[in-house]
Amino acid sequence: MTLRLLIIGAHPDDADYAAGGTAALYRAAGHVVHMVSLTNGDAGHHKYAGPELARRRRVEAAASGAVIGAAYEIFDIHDGQLLPTLENRWQVIRLIRSFRPDLVLTHRPNDYHPDHRYTSQLVQDAAYMVTVPAVVPEVPHLERDPVIAYLPDDFQKPYPLEPAVVVDVGGVLDKIVDMLHCHTSQFYEWLPCNRGIIAEVPAGESERKAWLKKPVQKRLSRRADLYREVLRRDYGVERGDKVRCAEAFEACEYGAPLDDDTRRRLFPFVFSM
Ligand SMILES: [Zn+2]
Repeated sequence: MTLRLLIIGAHPDDADYAAGGTAALYRAAGHVVHMVSLTNGDAGHHKYAGPELARRRRVEAAASGAVIGAAYEIFDIHDGQLLPTLENRWQVIRLIRSFRPDLVLTHRPNDYHPDHRYTSQLVQDAAYMVTVPAVVPEVPHLERDPVIAYLPDDFQKPYPLEPAVVVDVGGVLDKIVDMLHCHTSQFYEWLPCNRGIIAEVPAGESERKAWLKKPVQKRLSRRADLYREVLRRDYGVERGDKVRCAEAFEACEYGAPLDDDTRRRLFPFVFSM
């Protein structure tokens, strides 16, 4: 059965940054992946802003999606200005209803970036409402809630990520890097500038990719180590111990329950051994 994965991030690189490996595994198995950014990213740069930057990021996101054969949809809301308004909630309800996902991934509600927090809030506010016919009546409602899970982050308060599923993404690490490599304005310009390491960015394409791979690998390998017990539980001890790169997802209580059967259905590549 073909599964439908909807990843709703705040910015035009959040979906692939946090779940690019899982998205790649979904696509490799013939499933459908739709990545979304609720803002147009028009504030994410030190030199450019506004429509010029939004256009550039739209092209970058489309290229990233094309790496795995997924659409990347960008909402036209200003970067840094997303609010959990009724109109935005209706937009998210329309989005979820029209794509009819089996699984929705989004940010956790506590996060350093207000756009991430409000993206999470909007998805939580749309959960359940997607099943109510009288809400946004022009788009047919869903009979059942999709499963909703949270993208991984490292925030410790009010509590650290409690993963329901941990996915071995070592086999698609290069795909993840290929996707993130498309976001030139972010990974080779704005983010290194913001972190004061712009002088370290190499000039050549292949050198850049090798440079980008290191922190990506480090972040994913940290997650594999952090959630080793979950990996051992689901992949078995032998394979679980060998996982070097992982993405982890926490269940959201407002979607359909992510119980054992559902985990096996939605993450077949985890339980195939
Ligand atoms: Zn973001």
